[in-house]
This record gives sequence, C-alpha cells and structure tokens, in this order.
Amino acid sequence: MNYNDYEGVMGLEVHAHLLTESKIFCGCSTKFGGEPNSHTCPTCMGLPGALPVLNKKVVDFAIKLGLALHCTINRKSIFARKNYYYPDLPKAYQISQYEEPICSNGYLDIFMNGEKKRIRVLRVHMEEDAGKLVHESTIEASTYSLVDYNRSSVPLLEIVSEPDLSTPEEAVLYLKALRDVLVYLEICDGNMEEGSFRCDANVSVKRKSDTKLGTRTEMKNLNSFRSVEKSLAYEITRQIDLVKQGGTVIQETRLFNVDEGITYSMRGKEEAHDYRYFPDPDLLPLIVDDQWIEEIREGLPELPMAKMERFMTDHGLPRYDAEILVSDKELADYFEETVRLCKEPKTASNWIMTELLRELKNGNISPKDSPLSPAHLAELLSLIKDGTINIKIGKEIFPELYERGISPKELVKEKGLVQISDETAIVAMIDAILAKCPREVEEFRAGKDKLLGFFVGQVMKEARGKANPKLLNELLMGRLKGSG
Ligand code: ADP
Ligand code: MG
Ligand code: ZN
Repeated sequence: MNYNDYEGVMGLEVHAHLLTESKIFCGCSTKFGGEPNSHTCPTCMGLPGALPVLNKKVVDFAIKLGLALHCTINRKSIFARKNYYYPDLPKAYQISQYEEPICSNGYLDIFMNGEKKRIRVLRVHMEEDAGKLVHESTIEASTYSLVDYNRSSVPLLEIVSEPDLSTPEEAVLYLKALRDVLVYLEICDGNMEEGSFRCDANVSVKRKSDTKLGTRTEMKNLNSFRSVEKSLAYEITRQIDLVKQGGTVIQETRLFNVDEGITYSMRGKEEAHDYRYFPDPDLLPLIVDDQWIEEIREGLPELPMAKMERFMTDHGLPRYDAEILVSDKELADYFEETVRLCKEPKTASNWIMTELLRELKNGNISPKDSPLSPAHLAELLSLIKDGTINIKIGKEIFPELYERGISPKELVKEKGLVQISDETAIVAMIDAILAKCPREVEEFRAGKDKLLGFFVGQVMKEARGKANPKLLNELLMGRLKGSG
C-alpha cells in the first residue's frame, strides 16, 4: 500500500461575521474593537429577564447567501439553544439553528485547472458569536483573564459543506470562492485576520476503492488560507501513515500550530460536549414567505462566477485573466470602468494584472483607492494606441503616473516623451548608428540575424526610448537590406 492508494476527504464549516450595524438579538453596535464592553446591553450580556428580538437584516443576509448558493430557503426555521458553559458565553448557551436551519442543500462551483467541480453545501444557518477572553499577565498578579462582550451576539452565518473536497488545494479554492460570494453580496468583509471569516476543517482518509468514509478529525478556527492548506495536508499524511501502520484514526478536535506546521490533539470525542440543543422558548419559529424571498432575489448582484463567464464571453478574456480580475470585486469594477473608456479589454487586463496590481500590492492599497484612476489608465492606453508614446515609455512612466495620480497626457508633455514617428528623423538616427558600426553591419548582412536587436537597441538609445518601435523596425530592416 502506498500513498496513492489513499485519498483525503474534507468538509468545511465556515463562520462569517455579518456586516449588519447592530447585533443579532439587540440594538448594540457590531463594530470591531471599541472600548471593551462598550457595545453591550442586558440582552447581549445575558442578564436574567432580557429578551432577544431577531434582527431582520440578519435574515435578509442569510436568504441572500442561501440564494447565491442555490439552497432551498426553508419557509420555517427554528432557533435553538446550544448549551455549554464558558466565561465568554454569558447565558451559558449560544443561540443557533440546529435541526431546522434557514437554508439547506445548495452548492458552490469551483474551478480546478479549468475544470468545474461542484461542492455541495449542506446548510447555512444563523447564530450569535461569543464574547472574547483577553489573557493578561503582570508582575504583581500572575495571570488573569478579562472578558470583553463587545463581540457577544454579533451575527454569524455558518456555512457547512458536504465532504466533497478531495485535496487541500480544493479546500482553499472553495474557501476563496465562498469568501468572494460573501464579499460580492456585501454581507461580510471576508477579513480572516480579524476573524470575520474563519474556518473549521474536517478531514478523513480512506482507500480510494472504499466507498465508506473514514473517521474524521477537526481543526478549529483556522485563520488563513495557508493554515487551512497546510493543516489539511499535514493531517492527511498523518492519518494515512497511521492507517498504513494498522492504527485507527480517532474522532477528535486537533489544533494546528502555524510555526511548526503540525496538528496536536486538543480534545477527543469522549470530551466532546453534549450541547443538549432545544428550541429557544424566547424566539418564535422564523417564517419566511415567498414575497420576502423574491424581493431579495431581485436585489441580488452579479456573482463572481457569472461575472467571470461574462468577462470571458463579452470581453473575450482568457479564463486566467477573468479569474484574477473577478477575485476582487473592486478590481473587476476597475477593469470594467477602464474598458468602458478605452474599449480594449485584453490590453486593459494586461496592464491591470501586471503594472497596476504590482503597485497596489506594494502599497497594500485596494483598487478603489488606487491613485491612478481607470480614466487615467484608459488615457494612457490610448496614448499608446494612437502612437503618441510607445509601450516601453508607457511602462517606464507607469510608477510615476500611479504615484502622482496625474493625467498621462500631462506627464508625457511635461517630460517631452512624445514618440518620434517622423520617418526622416528616425532614418537619420539609423544611418548615424550604421555608419558607426560597419563591422556589425557586415556581419548582419553575412547572416548574423540576431544583430537586429543590437541595432534596434542602439537607435532606441539614440532616440532616448522615444522612437516608434514598429516604424523603427521597418526602416531599419529597409536600411540594412536595401542598401546591401
Ligand atoms: P459538527 O458540528 O459535529 O462538526 P457538522 O455537521 O456541523 O458537525 O459538520 C461536519 C463537517 O464535517 C461537515 O462539513 C462535513 O462535510 C464534514 N464531514 C463529515 N464527515 C466527514 C468525514 N468522514 N470526513 C471528512 N469530513 C467529514
Ligand atoms: Mg464541526
Ligand atoms: Zn446588546
């Protein structure tokens, strides 16, 4: 038996913080950070007698995501109490949805090497987040913990996939695609570092010939795509090694140590909680009617996958370009605005994917804050197209254009960069160079073709980069061959 006889099986549970102004069952602010315990009230602090009132926006967002993921939107769903004790959970239960979630049985398509794979989504449900423990230690007191309830009852959607993922790379693609959908829907900021998008990864292994799934382990709160990929890869190898040696995988929760790249057992199934779920008597069953669903369906924006298809068909972009542009809605918008102005999709895409993205990444700037506007990029592209400047000059001035956010026309004028397209001027420069290099001319004429580049370079240098390259090539060829 070797590794190739086995395969991994993975399913992800994702928690997404919703971009609502207020919490799920009270009017407190959901803002990240803030003075500890300043965004609190009796309800989200779990004081006796306080009653939860469901935030309609949370339901809107859940339906939005359910529709985007092709789920069944259940007309009736139930809020349940998930009971456990922890200091960050003041009621000693979390309000969640259990047996009857708001959305079920959907899917999300991912592309693996250009091939479509459908990942089924088992359920999407609403729940509240817990507070946060802050562990401190000082010289006087040894260690102690403080509780901040600002996060308590911030609304979450939990999205649970079926175990349809077969490799860590697929898991990451699914996560990225899911995050894109949430961001496009404007219901989650997708920020993994701040924890507004986090993932529990379940994984098992089995022999490829087996149909029955193996026992799974679960890794909690992975907060980067890299951690998801690394921890899954580690865990698959660990489990295969174990099984090959005749051991058995036990169902447990494991922790991933980023620095070591290793997972550790955290708690076994025996220590797993019995949450004693039951319907929350303070909240009525949630009833959603067709009209509500239709209203939300009508307001759905174009989703990443649809945008990608459109970029490929309408703008004629290769899938590679479309994928990169669509991976960030702002970048896609930037691209479309540029194309609206310059009507050259592929050229615009090339410049955005290389020059613009490089600058944005260097400064960690998001596309909508780019100092170089789509209008200025379009202007630059038309300066190149109509021959005012050549591509090389365009690339040279790009960083400065970006930096200063000024009009390309102005900069070209300011620096005297207008391309030389005057034949007589170019011929004069060519002749001067040819006269200086009789030996190379002879060699070229004797068949050393690759010297052409040398001549082009020399003339360009003479022209301080401003010669029209196409014209230069033609005239140079004529001069070299013609007078031979
Ligand atoms: P729990 O809350 O107990 O973790 P959930 O139903 O919420 O259970 O989530 C289970 C997750 O584990 C799902 O994403 C599912 O696809 C995945 N899963 C279930 N069985 C397996 C398995 N044998 N191997 C890998 N993943 C699995
Ligand atoms: Mg789980
Ligand atoms: Zn509150």
